Amino acid sequence: MSPGAVLRIDLAAVRRNYRALSERVGAAKVAGVVKADGYGLGAAWIAEALAAEGCSTFFVATADEALALRDTLPEVDIHVFDGVQPGEEGEFVARRIVPVLNSLPMLELWRVHGRGAPADLHIDTGMSRLGLDNKEVATLLAEPDRLVGVALDVVMSHLAVADQPDHPLNAQQLAAFRSVAPRIPARRKSFANSSGVFLGPDFHFDLARTGLALYGANPTPGQPDPMAQVIRLQGKILQLRSVDAGVSVGYGATHRASRASRIATVALGYADGYPLSLSNRGTAFVGETEIPVVGRVSMDLITLDVTDVPPALLAPGQMVDFIGPHNPVDVVAERAGTITYQILTGLGTRLQRDYVS
Ligand SMILES: *Cc1c(COP(=O)(O)O)cnc(C)c1O
Repeated sequence: MSPGAVLRIDLAAVRRNYRALSERVGAAKVAGVVKADGYGLGAAWIAEALAAEGCSTFFVATADEALALRDTLPEVDIHVFDGVQPGEEGEFVARRIVPVLNSLPMLELWRVHGRGAPADLHIDTGMSRLGLDNKEVATLLAEPDRLVGVALDVVMSHLAVADQPDHPLNAQQLAAFRSVAPRIPARRKSFANSSGVFLGPDFHFDLARTGLALYGANPTPGQPDPMAQVIRLQGKILQLRSVDAGVSVGYGATHRASRASRIATVALGYADGYPLSLSNRGTAFVGETEIPVVGRVSMDLITLDVTDVPPALLAPGQMVDFIGPHNPVDVVAERAGTITYQILTGLGTRLQRDYVS
């Protein structure tokens, strides 16, 4: 069966991005963040590519993601941001899954049931989401016995505005982390996410936790993109049709042809992760030629106004770029009014996924 829409995932680019980030952090190491199925691109594929590049520490969000990754990679370190819940301790220990302990009660759970296996500790420095808050940190520093019998690997915190280098919260969080982390008896310190890596060496510590940049998004918004593009999203032209001036196109009749027009109908829709918000806003590329999305993006189909494209360049069956060299995923996300993370993790399961290395 020939696919209507294809997502091409360039694993060589993922590996290049890993090397680039590793170079940038110097003596520190780079962990691969492969939560949410590798930001929608396939955690097993991505993690294997990263492991081949020398990555030995991985972070996921949930215990289930960790167990799935353990089946793929028996040897690497796997850490779980959400931590461990009562009843899960035995499985974590048996499968060598490292929980990120996010509160004093979770620390106590691991101290009692973790059998001395490694764990991480998350200190909140300004995200107010997960991690020990200031009061819990003060308690822990006053009562260091709470850590007896716990083998702490990573002490970590997470930046809220790393993609805004001039935001004062970056320096505040750094100061807070510096005042606490050295007093925690952990093997490694970790602070930066993808954008954090580009805030400078003060933010690197021992281990960066990078997701987005590995997947080819720009971790330095507004600056030249230091990463290699990873994905290309193409849809197939199913039909070319002529519409008269004044005729509407698509649901809601949100586009009305102002002149006699040629419309290409493409087999890609919001069910594949192409955002509805790009109705009458998105663009696609045939070769170097940019063509506008007209009408509403529907579940399975998109309509393009190809009136200005030389007819010889177009035929049913041809693939058109929606994300690719001329329309990088960051640009598509911004135009859609969302963030690159959401575009990546929203890419649909119906897409044919071609992994190239
Ligand atoms: C998702 C996540 C990361 C990775 O962030 P990117 O911006 O994708 O590099 C790092 N640390 C924590 C705690 C996260 O939740």
